[in-house]
Amino acid sequence: MTPGSTRNGYAPGRLTVHSEPAKLAPVTRALRGAGRKIVLIPTMGALHEGHRELIRHARRIPGSVVPVVSIFVNPLQFAAGEDLDRYPRPLEDDLQVCREEGVDLVFTPQVEHMYPPGSETRIAAGPLGDELEGAARKGHFDGMLTVVAKLLHIVGPDVAVFGEKDYQQLTLVRRMVRDLDFPLRIVGVPTVREDDGMALSSRNAYLDPEQRRAAGVLSRALVAGTSVSARGHDEVLAAARGELASEPDVEVDYLELRDADLGPAPASGAGRLLVAARVGSTRLIDNVPVAF
Ligand code: AMP
Repeated sequence: MTPGSTRNGYAPGRLTVHSEPAKLAPVTRALRGAGRKIVLIPTMGALHEGHRELIRHARRIPGSVVPVVSIFVNPLQFAAGEDLDRYPRPLEDDLQVCREEGVDLVFTPQVEHMYPPGSETRIAAGPLGDELEGAARKGHFDGMLTVVAKLLHIVGPDVAVFGEKDYQQLTLVRRMVRDLDFPLRIVGVPTVREDDGMALSSRNAYLDPEQRRAAGVLSRALVAGTSVSARGHDEVLAAARGELASEPDVEVDYLELRDADLGPAPASGAGRLLVAARVGSTRLIDNVPVAF
C-alpha cells in the first residue's frame, strides 16, 4: 500500500492507492459484500478532462458507488516501435486528479504484477480486432482485452466505464463481456472535446502547436460528413474526405462508415463515422455517431 492507505485498504472520502492485485481484490470484494456498487474506470493515466468526465459519470450512477480508477500503461497493447516508452506517466498529477474527482480507490499495478513470468494466456478479439485500428496496430486489441479481462477479475466491478473516443475498444469490450459472460454492465461515455472540436487524448501532448492546429481537421471532417447524412453514404465520405484534404500534413490512415456495432454501414438507422490519421509521428483517432 502507498500514501493515503489505511489498514483495511479503504477509507471513505479519502484516496487509497493499491499496486498489488492480491491486496486490492479483497478490498473491493468486501465493499461489494457490504452493498456498495463498484465502478471501474480503466485508464493508462496522463488523466485529462475526458477521464474526469468518465469518473463523474461513474459517480452519478445510482447506488452507493465506489469509483475505482486503474492506471496502467499496458505493454501488451503496444506494438514494437509504438510509443510505449515515451507514453506520459505523471502519476502524482493523476492521483491529484483522482482526489479532486472524489475517487476512493486507485489501482496502479506494475508490469510484473500484471504479467509475472510465465503469464502467456491472451484474449483473442476475433475478426473485428484486425480491422480499423487493428489493421494498423497488430495485436493491439488482443492486448487491450487481456488487460481489461484481468482488471475486471481483480476489481470485480458491477459497472465499468469506457469512452466512446476509443469506439472500437468500447465495442470489443462490450462483445467480450457478452461472449465470455462477465457479470457486469459496460457504460459508454460520449467524447469530451476541446473548443475547436478536437477530441481530448493523452497523445495530443505529443503535438507541437502547428501540428495541434492541423489536427483540428479530424473532428471538422467528421462534422462535415455527418452534416450531409441525409444524402447517403457516398456524400458523407466525400464531404469528410474533402475536409481532410485541406490539411496536407495530416496523413489519413482510414475514414470509414460502419454501423453502431462496427459492422457494415446501415442503409438506415444508427451508424458511426471513424477516422484515423498521422500528424508527424503521432497517430490520432476520432469518431462520431451518424444517423441514416
Ligand atoms: P486511455 O487512458 O487513453 O487508455 O483512456 C482511458 C479511458 O478514457 C478510455 O475508456 C477512453 O476511451 C477514455 N477517454 C479518453 N479520451 C477521452 C475523451 N476525450 N472523452 C471521453 N473519454 C475519453
